[in-house]
Amino acid sequence: MNPSAPAAMAATLTESAVETFRPQLRGELIQRNDAQYEQARKLYNAMIDKHPALIVRCVDVADVIACVNFARENQLTLAIRGGGHNGPGLGSCDDGIVIDLSRMRGIRIDPSNNTVRVEGGCVWGDVDHASHAFGLAVPSGFLSSTGVGGLTLGGGIGYLTRKYGLTIDSLLGVDMVLADGKFVHASADENVDLFWAVRGGGGNFGVVTSFLFKGHPIHTVYGGPMFWPLEQAADVLKYWQDLILNTPDELNGWFAFVTVPPVAPFPEKHQLEKMCAIVWCYTGPLAQAEAVFKPIRAFAPPAIDFAGPIPFPALQSMFDALYPSGLNWYWRADFFNHYDDKAIALHMKYGAQLPTAFSTMHIYPINGAAGRVGNGDTAWGYRNANFAQVVVGVDPDPANNARMGEWAKDYWLALHPNSMGGGYVNMIMDEGEERVKAAYGENYARLTQIKAKYDPENLFHVNQNIHPTR
Ligand SMILES: Cc1cc2nc3c(=O)[nH]c(=O)nc-3n(C[C@H](O)[C@H](O)[C@H](O)COP(=O)(O)OP(=O)(O)OC[C@H]3O[C@@H](n4cnc5c(N)ncnc54)[C@H](O)[C@@H]3O)c2cc1C
Repeated sequence: MNPSAPAAMAATLTESAVETFRPQLRGELIQRNDAQYEQARKLYNAMIDKHPALIVRCVDVADVIACVNFARENQLTLAIRGGGHNGPGLGSCDDGIVIDLSRMRGIRIDPSNNTVRVEGGCVWGDVDHASHAFGLAVPSGFLSSTGVGGLTLGGGIGYLTRKYGLTIDSLLGVDMVLADGKFVHASADENVDLFWAVRGGGGNFGVVTSFLFKGHPIHTVYGGPMFWPLEQAADVLKYWQDLILNTPDELNGWFAFVTVPPVAPFPEKHQLEKMCAIVWCYTGPLAQAEAVFKPIRAFAPPAIDFAGPIPFPALQSMFDALYPSGLNWYWRADFFNHYDDKAIALHMKYGAQLPTAFSTMHIYPINGAAGRVGNGDTAWGYRNANFAQVVVGVDPDPANNARMGEWAKDYWLALHPNSMGGGYVNMIMDEGEERVKAAYGENYARLTQIKAKYDPENLFHVNQNIHPTR
């Protein structure tokens, strides 16, 4: 299927075809004239404005199968919406059909083997809530409102990455609806090639209706942010880099340039000040935590220090309120091995120029457990990188979009020559085929072969698209 053609095809979608489709569904079918349409089509990123012809709020696997078959038979563009958080808005489309999984939010914990079964429309807050009651956590990201679907299928970088690996490293299996409408299971024992591909290959291979994860014994951690004045940022960045490359897996912490929010509990004297920050998560014994952080606090006493014992779901949701749905987002990402003095000087230059109070730059550690998995063991191609970096322009006012987009591109371009070539697939925009290839690195060729086997017509192309070889 030619991805540019379906808009025209959608115009030929007849009312009678839709009326034949409707009784096949238990979930809601929403069309342009329906009252819920405007709300239903909204995405997390307000910069993206898409108008699908149909949105189906699926409630079960049968609904998903019906949607996939309907899209294929009517040659409609098909998008899959998990949490709707994707930067370039790949959870929706213009003119086609959206499989909206947000009504499929069931979770089942099996305490006998510490597994967590999660339906395809859950967000991470759902999983944290359900698993915390059993003293378990699944490695995810740094926010609780992000969808399990998109984050997992793209890899999943978060607070537990150094200790337990990427989210995909705790994935035991998936239930999927393929392009031909077949329902399959993929795991280490079944459809092994598909299981390899979905661990990093995004939504390219089908609709995942259920994920089975291994849960880990995490309840209360020692974590939270520390802030330092911008003048100390180069020293803090150097110190943090050395620490993260040499410390045991139990200690994680991501570096950021931020503007201190103008709200409590941030001290008034620092509100709206540009600072650098490290957001920590220590998963070792709580009794040892103060000793672990003593040298960190001694190296450069933080101006603001919120780190302490915290239930894991509270750490996961700490920044949700600061980044609600409906802001404008533009981001650029790359992987790095090491930041030398020249790179740190560039960070100092652009970090000091955050264009809006919501804009930020994050560097996430991906060494430790994530780095001990082989580059070819899953579709995620940068196991040999130590850091995933993302430059993020964010603001509620669309009038700032151009300015923050320019800053993000300039910052990214300045550091890019020091990068490993590609960026994290979940944190790139619509940047063209070469950037998608770069995101997968040496795994791209195998991904195209598996795509050709499971989705030869590229029905699932509303994503960071892997083209099937023909
Ligand atoms: C505020 C914010 C914070 C973030 N924090 C992190 C973080 O800490 N760590 C991290 O790794 N990433 C993070 N991300 C990036 C995030 O992983 C991606 O944006 C991801 O695409 C979001 O998944 P979603 O399900 O919410 O997205 P959606 O927009 O719903 O979907 C995105 C893509 O995933 C595919 N997809 C979603 N669900 C399914 C499914 N069930 N089956 C098949 N395909 C599916 C779709 O094809 C679509 O292309 C963050 C993003 C934002 C906006």
